[in-house]
Amino acid sequence: MPNAIFSSLPTTVFEEMSGLARANGAVNLGQGFPDDPGPEAVRAKAADAVLNGYNQYPPMAGLPELRQAVANHYGRTQELDLDWASEVTVTSGATEALAASFLALIEPGDEVIVFQPFYDAYPPLIRRAGGVPKLVRLEPPHWRFTREMLEAAFTPRTRLVVLNNPINPTGVVLPDEDLALLAEFCVTHDAVAVCDEVWEQVVFDGRRHRPLIAFPGMRERTVKIGSAGKMFGLTGWKVGFLCAAPALTHSLARAHQFLTFTTPPNLQAAVAWGLENAADWFRDMPAGLQRSRDRLADGLRREGFAVLPSQGTYFLNVDLPGSGIVEGDRDFCLRAVKEAGVAAIPVSAFYEAHPVTTIARLCFSKGDATLDEGVARLAKARDLSIRASRSTTPA
Ligand code: PMP
Ligand code: GLN
Repeated sequence: MPNAIFSSLPTTVFEEMSGLARANGAVNLGQGFPDDPGPEAVRAKAADAVLNGYNQYPPMAGLPELRQAVANHYGRTQELDLDWASEVTVTSGATEALAASFLALIEPGDEVIVFQPFYDAYPPLIRRAGGVPKLVRLEPPHWRFTREMLEAAFTPRTRLVVLNNPINPTGVVLPDEDLALLAEFCVTHDAVAVCDEVWEQVVFDGRRHRPLIAFPGMRERTVKIGSAGKMFGLTGWKVGFLCAAPALTHSLARAHQFLTFTTPPNLQAAVAWGLENAADWFRDMPAGLQRSRDRLADGLRREGFAVLPSQGTYFLNVDLPGSGIVEGDRDFCLRAVKEAGVAAIPVSAFYEAHPVTTIARLCFSKGDATLDEGVARLAKARDLSIRASRSTTPA
């Protein structure tokens, strides 16, 4: 019999909604990916490495040039002091880095704190590694956790905390005081933080990403995960990084060697080049996305939608009741993609217990025409939804 943890799961909401978008010829503001091809110089390096470079197994921990480039990049941008040889491992995307972290660091029965809404891969991977997810439920509009919530979640069995920051799907970039509070709990409870920081380069309005590993007491107890897919807007590349103190890295690398062992060397070479040569990209890319965020938010507000703030990531959220929509988020998103030709992601898909069902996530890493068409179609979806609920509500 197949394992129940995975066989009981539906297909991920991203695949489901992109499939429906394709089937219905919809504007896809669901799954998070840019619709431009990404930095040409980085892609040219990859093409050159395929044709003229080495295409056999690279070293298990990653190409030294990429591991050095990762350490240098985080030194420049986040003032971290990572030793590339003992503290950086290249993985096949952040997803593999997460799986390796859970396999390497969880003992059966360990409790793992996870904040809802979560990136959907976390709980099944944690359970399959023998962990017990302890869910902390966050709510709109601010999505913040408090000391009381952490006190209720941490127990003597807490082994790991999974923190996604900047946060998908909420678009929140956590303030220093929240990071310091979580660090305090990790230190007091001797827990390790697995920090999914794939969106670290995608922060707006002059913000700077602050890694939890830099907070007092966290240097030896944090696994920092990054993804070139998000850094360069090349989501299909699946080149990720695991950064952690040597003792943690030793275990993480043992898990990685039996998950994928390596990651395509030509993509690694191109990412290494990009990290060392793309200062302009890291300035211009967030600025462009911020303009797209504002275009989508302004368009939605003009149509009467209630838009929540987005401080980072490719995403902004719409409050459905505040926009006049009484339908639940999943029903509204299914109606939008099938009847109005626009895909969005229901935020309830990022909860396992007591879901928030009033928010739809929209991806704004798209060209202006796509965003404008998306707004028009969302307005149509809202009108259809309002009409449908009127006709089913008894007078
Ligand atoms: N974590 C989060 C929070 C994400 O949003 C994503 C994908 N967008 C991932 C992990 C997966 O990253 P990758 O494609 O590098 O596996
Ligand atoms: N991270 C992307 C998103 O949130 C999708 C990842 C995936 O398709 N699994 O939209």
